[in-house]
Amino acid sequence: MSLAENLARVQERITTACGRAGRDPSEITLLAVSKNHPAAAVTEAVALGVTSFGESRVQEARVKIPASPGRARWHFIGHLQSNKAREAVALFEMIESLDSLDLAAEVQRQAEKQAKTVRVLAEVNIAGESSKFGWNPAQFLGELDRLNAFPRLELHGLMTIAPYSPDPERARPVFRRLRELRDAAADRLGAPLPVLSMGMSGDLEVAIGEGATLVRVGTALFGERPRGPAGAGE
Ligand SMILES: *Cc1c(COP(=O)(O)O)cnc(C)c1O
Repeated sequence: MSLAENLARVQERITTACGRAGRDPSEITLLAVSKNHPAAAVTEAVALGVTSFGESRVQEARVKIPASPGRARWHFIGHLQSNKAREAVALFEMIESLDSLDLAAEVQRQAEKQAKTVRVLAEVNIAGESSKFGWNPAQFLGELDRLNAFPRLELHGLMTIAPYSPDPERARPVFRRLRELRDAAADRLGAPLPVLSMGMSGDLEVAIGEGATLVRVGTALFGERPRGPAGAGE
């Protein structure tokens, strides 16, 4: 299956899911997750009209981003270590995986140095899986005011990764709780948090049904990922 065919199929899935949910497909951003795939795959996707790409490792992105078309926009979606915050701020338009106040403080510090404003999403570990990063929901609400106070961070919304299951319906309560948490957080801030990043290759329809505005799709576009270097955790 070619990338063009895969892309058409994913776009059709998004359109169908929007139809069922009574939503407009223009509300959904498709983030093409290019991790473990070469810059050539990004170049091909850009030629097909894809504009937003997701990477989960700074080491990989620092090579791939300069080798990719300048039109590509990049979101960081992996666990960010503080010592990589400087590079992440330089390379990425959005950090979707902000997962602690300590990391937020470091991103703020680097953004200040680079005279930049950084768009961020707060990653929330809705299901409480020990293998995943992200705020616990209650703790997130407790720390929200402090998170929102960093002058160089623009909080646009929330992100979550649902537990893996072959049955996409299993993810529905997770997606629903992320939306409810977003609503509570927006209420508390008195400002909209428009972005809900949830849903991947296996469960994007369910995520769109529950309000996703950004779906992160790797495998359904680029095929199975070649194995990354040792320790390239996902
Ligand atoms: C790898 C990854 C994806 C893409 O997953 P697929 O199942 O290949 O679509 C989405 N989000 C995050 C955070 C990832 O690490």
